[in-house]
Amino acid sequence: MNILVFVEIRDGRIKRSSLEALSEARRTAGKLGGRVAAALVGEGVRAHAEALGQHGAAQVYVTESPRLKYYAPEAYARAVVEAHKKWGAGAIFMAATSMGRDLAGGVGALLGTSAAADCTGVLVDGGRILARRPVYAGKAYATVAFRKAPAILSLRPNVFPIEEPGGAAAVEELAPAFEESDFRSAVRELTASVQGKVELTEASVIVSGGRGLKGPEHFVLRDELAAALGAAVGASRAVVDNGWRPHSEQVGQTGKTVSPNLYVALGISGAIQHLAGMRTSKVIVAVNKDPDAPIFKAATYGIVGDVFEVVPALTAQLKKVLGG
Ligand SMILES: Cc1cc2nc3c(=O)[nH]c(=O)nc-3n(C[C@H](O)[C@H](O)[C@H](O)COP(=O)(O)OP(=O)(O)OC[C@H]3O[C@@H](n4cnc5c(N)ncnc54)[C@H](O)[C@@H]3O)c2cc1C
Repeated sequence: MNILVFVEIRDGRIKRSSLEALSEARRTAGKLGGRVAAALVGEGVRAHAEALGQHGAAQVYVTESPRLKYYAPEAYARAVVEAHKKWGAGAIFMAATSMGRDLAGGVGALLGTSAAADCTGVLVDGGRILARRPVYAGKAYATVAFRKAPAILSLRPNVFPIEEPGGAAAVEELAPAFEESDFRSAVRELTASVQGKVELTEASVIVSGGRGLKGPEHFVLRDELAAALGAAVGASRAVVDNGWRPHSEQVGQTGKTVSPNLYVALGISGAIQHLAGMRTSKVIVAVNKDPDAPIFKAATYGIVGDVFEVVPALTAQLKKVLGG
């Protein structure tokens, strides 16, 4: 079975989570005796085709136009469907970023098939692809089979390892016949909320703060620990609702879903809605003064203590060990 992967470009770079999706597609296609193609959509994106070949794509379909500079849901979906028709894919993978989750539904609608969002595992069973994905805010996992082809899967960032087997992809330019209706909604401008910092959903280390930090002025504790670790910063909904931190930092069911190698929760109780956004993190460290806080059930390492004592000591020690 051949697989097509939609590859997202942001700020002139291939998104890491797209390379993860490409790598997983290659592993899955390998089990099914197929090959992998990538779809690049945007303006000036052709330059990335070579790197995709090195990451295992046998073919790259490029759809370029100045009108595609920013994400236009209908037009991007049409471009992916065009690539799918060329490649004859039995499955279409993409990263479960904001764009990927949106696009998966659009492509599914155009092809009359279904999409499984935010998958954390891809299984092969009797020549079929099955998707494993969290349900009930991550309390359980469902294994999803697809009634119709192509199966569409968006893959959770930071879950699937990247491989770079080397190789060169054949490149073909596609020019779908776009209609005005394909541009009914379009992004006009992107404004980075926090410049120069690591993006939350792709970060390998995240330090998050909750209501236990007591006020916006104390988030400097979180930020200093994050700086020592080279980490991105997150927050619980309680502090976002209080206006202490922007919603772009919120982790959880109604915020971002993250899966870093290390997640540090400072003064966060560990409500189910928060856990929904971070429980697949590989290592979870929690600092909370309440030994019965639910976060400790999810934590790999727990420190029962006051954030105002523990965090400065931790930051100082990390600076000593890691330098900086
Ligand atoms: C539909 C819905 C969606 C939601 N979506 C989200 C979501 O996306 N993300 C999210 O986070 N929440 C979400 N929530 C809210 C969630 O239920 C919790 O209310 C929220 O996560 C609590 O945030 P918190 O842990 O910072 O605050 P609290 O629950 O108030 O916990 C503060 C913690 O800090 C500890 N603490 C206090 N002082 C100190 C100190 N000095 N040192 C150390 N520890 C201390 C306390 O022991 C406590 O455990 C949602 C709720 C609903 C109903």
